[in-house]
Amino acid sequence: MITHLLSAADLDRDTATLLLDTARQLGAALSGREVKKLPTLRGRTVVNLFYEDSTRTRVSFEAAAKRLSADVVNFSAKGSSVSKGESLKDTAWTLQAMGADAVVIRHPASGAAHRLAQWVDGHVLNAGDGTHEHPTQALLDAYTMRERMGRLEGLRVAIVGDVLHSRVARSNVLLLNTLGAEVTLVAPPTLLPVGVESWPAGVEYDFDAVLPKTDVVMMLRVQRERMTDSFFPSVREYSRRYGLDVRRAGLLPDDALVMHPGPMVRGMEIAPEVADSPRSAIVEQVANGVLVRMAALYLLLSGEKGAGE
Ligand code: ASP
Repeated sequence: MITHLLSAADLDRDTATLLLDTARQLGAALSGREVKKLPTLRGRTVVNLFYEDSTRTRVSFEAAAKRLSADVVNFSAKGSSVSKGESLKDTAWTLQAMGADAVVIRHPASGAAHRLAQWVDGHVLNAGDGTHEHPTQALLDAYTMRERMGRLEGLRVAIVGDVLHSRVARSNVLLLNTLGAEVTLVAPPTLLPVGVESWPAGVEYDFDAVLPKTDVVMMLRVQRERMTDSFFPSVREYSRRYGLDVRRAGLLPDDALVMHPGPMVRGMEIAPEVADSPRSAIVEQVANGVLVRMAALYLLLSGEKGAGE
């Protein structure tokens, strides 16, 4: 097993599959229980270090750690010494002195999780670093696809929208490629990163043409908070060309799946009717996130064995 979970690029096929299988076993172990808690990480401390806003990911990591009986310390940059100018390094030393066994970090700077891993002895889990990576999101997405579609090998996945600012897209492309899926990125040229040709994914600009050949369509939010420029003429124009509305969803094969990492901007990249339709796995993604994060904490903190062993 790896020591830290920093990047989907660090996960080979066996490690990624072990994480997904362990998430499944943990789900099965919990489902029969009245009290949804396993004693596995009793006495261990997990620190949630969030320098950027988060709803799902923070709550999900907290729930995951608590379901494994770990002690959880939530640290958010607002209201901490970070707002007094304390550096990440000083914060890392504080956490080190407190004896954190694992640190879950979200940070606006790409590479922050890697830096932190050099400064603390505990295991570091990247919960999103700038526009770089969000490996547990990719794991929960792969888990959701595998549960709903029964396989990942050969699955045709379209990732659509603001790829340029999306750590979710990068982590998904890397992990899905490792697990044998075929990924196509669909975006306006202005929202694709430089060097995208070297990613293990195809690139298309015509969303309508891609949909009939797609098993899973993953919509991305337009990340306005990371934009310094104007990347498209108007919201209306963006939606018209790259939004998943009811007509477009009708172009998908009947058993295709619709996904979105959240937060959604309903009416922009996805129509409410599509987000709430039976082919949408968006709510399941959130539920599966807890299982996948439990698996990550469990495997990092308690050695190499699967949950059933
Ligand atoms: N929640 C995801 C992230 O933190 C996606 C998004 O914000 O649009 O990267």
